Amino acid sequence: MEQHDLDYFKKLLTNWLAELLSQADNTVLGLRDSEDNLSDPLDRAAYDTERSYLLRMRDRESVLIKKIKRSLEDIEDGIYGICEDCGTDISIKRLKARPVARRCIQCKTRQENIEKLIGA
Ligand SMILES: [Zn+2]
Repeated sequence: MEQHDLDYFKKLLTNWLAELLSQADNTVLGLRDSEDNLSDPLDRAAYDTERSYLLRMRDRESVLIKKIKRSLEDIEDGIYGICEDCGTDISIKRLKARPVARRCIQCKTRQENIEKLIGA
């Protein structure tokens, strides 16, 4: 990958990570704020529903945060954009659509087909 492409993705991933981390802070603060005044059972139920939704969101965010951090490490190690299965370059187009991709489209498709076959 060209240096200017690496710079582009490094900036993109860094900004994305910062954005997710600030959102994660808000989620935690939101949970803490709504802890008050839950004597009403209806409020309590609504609160529980919202809380489990927020926790699910946070799980998904933390998975994504890990992936972004790994991609940033790959950039430092000089292996970003290289398919971890077959070692070919992942296309820039694919990386722009999915900057945390670690496999080329062929390997990704093959992996998904295997997962479908074994019901994973
Ligand atoms: Zn591949």
